[in-house]
Amino acid sequence: MTHRYAIGVGANLGDRAATFAWAAALIQADGDIAIAAQSAAIRSAPMGGPSVQEWFLNAVWILATGLGPHSLLHRLQAIETACGRARTVRWGPRLLDLDLLARADGLRVASPVLTLPHPGLGERAFVVEPLTELIQSRAWPA
Ligand code: ATP
Ligand code: CA
Ligand code: CA
Repeated sequence: MTHRYAIGVGANLGDRAATFAWAAALIQADGDIAIAAQSAAIRSAPMGGPSVQEWFLNAVWILATGLGPHSLLHRLQAIETACGRARTVRWGPRLLDLDLLARADGLRVASPVLTLPHPGLGERAFVVEPLTELIQSRAWPA
């Protein structure tokens, strides 16, 4: 059974567009995951966290995969690491942030390592705006 997940993609260090392209290539290279749709990437101001931060590049991508949510989270975390992310402080600057936002069938998860839908989903403009684009183009949640 193939599921569709929306993921939030963010970067606020280095060549953000190049990191996005590399992350997309790594996801496509994972034989279990396909990218079904990508929103436009938008620039946004840093939110919260350590005060001296750079602008973000953000997008939402739709993934099609048979993986369950925890397996997919682990694959995405491995891709963050492969793209050079060092785990430092939460909400700190990072080369790549891949968040699971929601699964199209509305699955809810509340585990110590995963909350679905993502708690910030409805209140972050850098998520709402790209997600709205995908809804309007019917890429999500259908
Ligand atoms: P936020 O989740 O508020 O956007 P963040 O992305 O900066 O913050 P991270 O440091 O990237 O936070 O991740 C902290 C932990 O959040 C991860 O180790 C992961 O286990 C957990 N987590 C819980 N729910 C999710 C989710 N839906 N997607 C990704 N990580 C999640
Ligand atoms: Ca995040
Ligand atoms: Ca994250």
